[in-house]
Amino acid sequence: GVAADEAPTAWLNGAPAAAVRPHASHKGTFGDVAVIGGEVDAAGGMAMAGAALLAGRAALHAGAGRVYDSLLNQSPHGAAPLLDVTQPELMFRCVELLDLPHLTVVCGCGGGDAVAGVLPAVLAQAARLVLDADGLNAVAADAALQRALRERAAHAHQPTVLTPHPLEAARLLATTTADVQRDRLAAVQALAKRFGAVVVLKGSGSVIAAPGTAPRINPTGNARLATGGTGDVLAGLVGARLAAGADAFGAACAAVYQHGAVADAWPVGQTLTASALAQALKA
Ligand code: AMP
Ligand code: MG
Repeated sequence: GVAADEAPTAWLNGAPAAAVRPHASHKGTFGDVAVIGGEVDAAGGMAMAGAALLAGRAALHAGAGRVYDSLLNQSPHGAAPLLDVTQPELMFRCVELLDLPHLTVVCGCGGGDAVAGVLPAVLAQAARLVLDADGLNAVAADAALQRALRERAAHAHQPTVLTPHPLEAARLLATTTADVQRDRLAAVQALAKRFGAVVVLKGSGSVIAAPGTAPRINPTGNARLATGGTGDVLAGLVGARLAAGADAFGAACAAVYQHGAVADAWPVGQTLTASALAQALKA
């Protein structure tokens, strides 16, 4: 395997060297990430909140200064989670209170249909944006959200990274998964062009594309990543890199590389879980 810190500089592509924190820095220096997703089930439990918690944990371990988790669909009568007991650094905040113009938002790690309701504000206002899973599905299902995403691309200071797996990519392109997989480079470039965004088409050999740039095929990663929650960890990691000031293409390339490299370096005989992957990330 390839170790994360052996990443060729071309792969880091302008991402700041976050490993050494300047002495005269504070938590605001490293950027604020807000994860919007999850959901509390009708009984007020946390059954569906895992995706948003994993993305938040990943952003924290990847060096973000402050990380907020905003869970949608909270039962009005149920107990909203106030604390991730295994990651108490995460701050829970209702989505209406997020200061979107100053945040890197990671949207759609869970949240189901409720994500569509927050997307107009998120697409218009978030300083930097990673759209994953339920956020991508909401866009695929709604022409007005597709227009809002393209409109966002007109504002170069509001970069967007889309992180679809092949089925999510197929929904966005109104085609089939088999069609996406037949020519992954064509699919990822079509998405980047259509939405004016950086796009990571995930899966074995993740491909990263941006409008007007040659796409890259990521050399790291293996089938141990084929387990629930690893995509949410990637979304949080991209968010942390964006929040630290990397350009969108550089952030996506560096995050995908590191995500795969951690899996490649994982000890033989030990199971890789998404939680453990999040904890193994470095700034
Ligand atoms: P998701 O499909 O959203 O759960 O994301 C799964 C994550 O694991 C993505 O980052 C994929 O690229 C990665 N992944 C899944 N299966 C493999 C595989 N066989 N080889 C390399 N990476 C994989
Ligand atoms: Mg996923």
